[in-house]
Amino acid sequence: MTALDTLKERVAALPRPLLLGLDVDGTLAPIVDDPDRARVPDATQTVLRELARHADYRVALITGRDLPALERMAQVPGAWRAVEHGGWIVAPGDEGAERPLDPADREKLEAFAAWAADGPGQVERKARSVGLHVRKLDAGEGEARLAAAEERAEALGLIARRGRAVLEAELESGDKGRALAELQERIGAASVFFAGDDLTDLPAIRYAAERGVGVFIASDERPEGPEGATLALDGPEDLASFLASLR
Ligand SMILES: [Mg+2]
Repeated sequence: MTALDTLKERVAALPRPLLLGLDVDGTLAPIVDDPDRARVPDATQTVLRELARHADYRVALITGRDLPALERMAQVPGAWRAVEHGGWIVAPGDEGAERPLDPADREKLEAFAAWAADGPGQVERKARSVGLHVRKLDAGEGEARLAAAEERAEALGLIARRGRAVLEAELESGDKGRALAELQERIGAASVFFAGDDLTDLPAIRYAAERGVGVFIASDERPEGPEGATLALDGPEDLASFLASLR
């Protein structure tokens, strides 16, 4: 039996309504060199829209991206969105009010962004954090750059979060596991599914594994499934085919 077959069987046995929590980059959207060009494939978006209308499911996109970036990557009107690593939960249909930055926080982010722009790697500005991506650098150079960025972020009083070929300097530390718990409570879901591909997904994968199914999406960058996951799939294509099978 393939991992995909096992997954279908496990999920079929879960009580409904089932919360389908989904990371976005590397999980729904294939990883590309330029993070600005990453997008959830049209076919997957169509499936997600259908699932969001289905009585058995509640769809939640749970991502490190901010709300404008997520809106560029996928349009799923019926979905909950937990952005900035789950730090901000936006209900379906809610446009998400502007959250003003205080001047001291803005200054910290500006200082980090200016430092990051002055060296190799690609800078990603978000509402309450700045990402530095090093996927286009060679491995040794990328690692050194991330270590320097981590040190710089912490010196500025920001929280440094490492992900796949990225360091994010954040004002607050969101937690996808806590976001998933809050979503389950608000939605009243009887069971939980979550899929994610990175270290920041582990709390949510474990939360879901204890209340349903927690899936790790493996990649060349992170081939090993973590402890606590129900199972691992080989990439976004396998997950997309699983989601399509739920309709
Ligand atoms: Mg991801």
